[in-house]
Amino acid sequence: MEVNGMLVNQNRIQNRLEQLAVIGKIGETGVCRLAHSKEDREAVDLFRTWMDEAGFETEIDCFGNLVGKLQGTDPSAPLLVIGSHLDSQPYGGRFDGAAGCVAALEVAQTLKENDQRLVHGFHLICFSDEEGSRFAKGLFGSKGLLGMLKKDDLERQDKNGMTRREALQEFGVNPLDISYEGVYKAQDLLAFLELHIEQGPILDKSNEPIGIVTGISGPLWLTVTLEGKAGHTGSVPMSLRQDALVGAAEIVGAIRETVTRDPEAKTIGSVGSLRVFPDSRNIIPEKVTFTVDLRDIDLERRNECEEIIMAKIKDVCQKHHLTYDVSEDTRSDPKYCADWIKDAMREEAKKMNVTAPEIMSGPFHDAITFSEVCDYGMIFIRCKDGISHHPDEFSTYADIALGTELLYHTALKIGSGAYKKAAETTIK
Ligand SMILES: [Zn+2]
Repeated sequence: MEVNGMLVNQNRIQNRLEQLAVIGKIGETGVCRLAHSKEDREAVDLFRTWMDEAGFETEIDCFGNLVGKLQGTDPSAPLLVIGSHLDSQPYGGRFDGAAGCVAALEVAQTLKENDQRLVHGFHLICFSDEEGSRFAKGLFGSKGLLGMLKKDDLERQDKNGMTRREALQEFGVNPLDISYEGVYKAQDLLAFLELHIEQGPILDKSNEPIGIVTGISGPLWLTVTLEGKAGHTGSVPMSLRQDALVGAAEIVGAIRETVTRDPEAKTIGSVGSLRVFPDSRNIIPEKVTFTVDLRDIDLERRNECEEIIMAKIKDVCQKHHLTYDVSEDTRSDPKYCADWIKDAMREEAKKMNVTAPEIMSGPFHDAITFSEVCDYGMIFIRCKDGISHHPDEFSTYADIALGTELLYHTALKIGSGAYKKAAETTIK
């Protein structure tokens, strides 16, 4: 396959990703840049210098987002927003999020180098706390910008008891400035674009470097707390126990059974975090808190699974004489990418002489927040064995450059003014 004339600069992309990978580096290839941490701030500060060089007017807002603004030739035209995130998982990789930020910046730089100016204003955003690892709730920055935060989001605590409010202050922004109204309204936005590594094995397995995303499965995130009764493990008879961990174990198994009952369905359900209190060898677990992550592209099917799991929690708690509480952290519906954006991507990929298969995203991204208010499109980059959220996460710079080239042509095409109508007809 001969790719037609690349305009983006692969060396520059590689160089920037390598510089970012040093910040919060763990081992040879891993990265730990937790949201609002000093590593996060360092990455944001470095990225900001690049944005300044590329001609953006930049600011770090009260949510911790790094926002860059480029004027379009028509100041009244709605904005094209392109972005991703610089924060990472605690034992994360070099490409998740960073690839999308560097690609968005490369789009701006390539526009400049080719004397192209978009009709629409172009905002590049490195979103704050996309990952949701530190405060068990993600998409903080994008939700803030779109007025979707809840008041108690600032009071959530990390594992050391630090609140998000305190962490933001430590990051160097003022959470008192946060307005729950949001910054962008639907009518301000033409579209949102994001490039991201696939975080799944489909492109790698089919030997395709890049893909056009068709939509994002909706995640439902719950936190379940079970409470029983503590006691000495050496003396309390089995028949009298109210062991919260035994209950949790049954529920974890039931979640797996529920989501795999139809082998054809693409439902996914996981328990990724579990805390036991008092967490001692010779004390019966009194309290267990665990997270549930349930996703499907089919909302009805996800709802069915949720019902079955909720019934199971109730049954198990009755059986083991436990009380329980389920709190909802995130509930997103599956969101499909806009046809007119996918069409633009298909046409541009064809001109580049690149086949870009169309695939669904299991993981969510900042794009899902924007999908609530405007049309969106995403480009996926092949990642080795589908591994992500791990130091082994790997994509080649050639693949990232190819995806960036498609992002560039897509931005140029839809930012030229010709698509204004297409976006208006679908504004929610
Ligand atoms: Zn990501």
